[in-house]
Amino acid sequence: MADDDTKYSYKIVLAGDTGVGKTNILRRFVSDSLPKTPHPTIGVEFATKIIDIEGKDKVKAQIWDTAGQERYKSITSAHYRNAVGALLVYDVTRHQTFVNAKRWAEELRFHAGEDIIVLLAGNKLDLVHKSQENRQVSREEAEKFAKSNGMLFKETSAYENENIAESFQELLKDVHYKQKANPSPKKNVKNYKLDPNQPQANESKCSC
Ligand code: GDP
Repeated sequence: MADDDTKYSYKIVLAGDTGVGKTNILRRFVSDSLPKTPHPTIGVEFATKIIDIEGKDKVKAQIWDTAGQERYKSITSAHYRNAVGALLVYDVTRHQTFVNAKRWAEELRFHAGEDIIVLLAGNKLDLVHKSQENRQVSREEAEKFAKSNGMLFKETSAYENENIAESFQELLKDVHYKQKANPSPKKNVKNYKLDPNQPQANESKCSC
């Protein structure tokens, strides 16, 4: 099936503090590689990937990176517009990024709507595998937070490719079943057009 034949297309956004690994997660998922230079994300970017949902449907995930805007606390509402799912990332070795996840969750729900499906991802798990002393956020604490806020939860490593595909798969599965049960046509982004007033996006063209 060609990409454009995909009946279902969903906008997913990345959220979380600068440096937690959002860009690496996205690159790992989309092209199974990491950026060659560890520079912060620059420019508006999104990437797409076709995902098979339990052998039944193929869905297109259009995943938007934050473009480094979070550094300036100036993520535009265009980033969130029409998003039906989000990967909210924190760094398991930096507790403050977990504390800030609460604010990100509020921002997501404020801009994208209460019904957005969120997966909380504790990234850089490889550093914990190296030494437990690196861990600043316990799995239990994060799991509890996710549960009480109606979020899915995983710990991930973009470096070791741990739980990256699984996280997107789980998120997209919930998004898809929710949309199928209760379709909201304006949120199917098959014919999504970029806002001409926004900087050009870069679809699926990783410079990696
Ligand atoms: P973003 O600002 O959230 O997009 O974060 P980046 O993807 O740019 O990553 C920030 C830094 O964390 C870079 O130096 C990455 O190489 C590093 N990083 C990203 N993911 C991981 C990971 O899974 N494990 C480790 N150890 N470092 C990572």
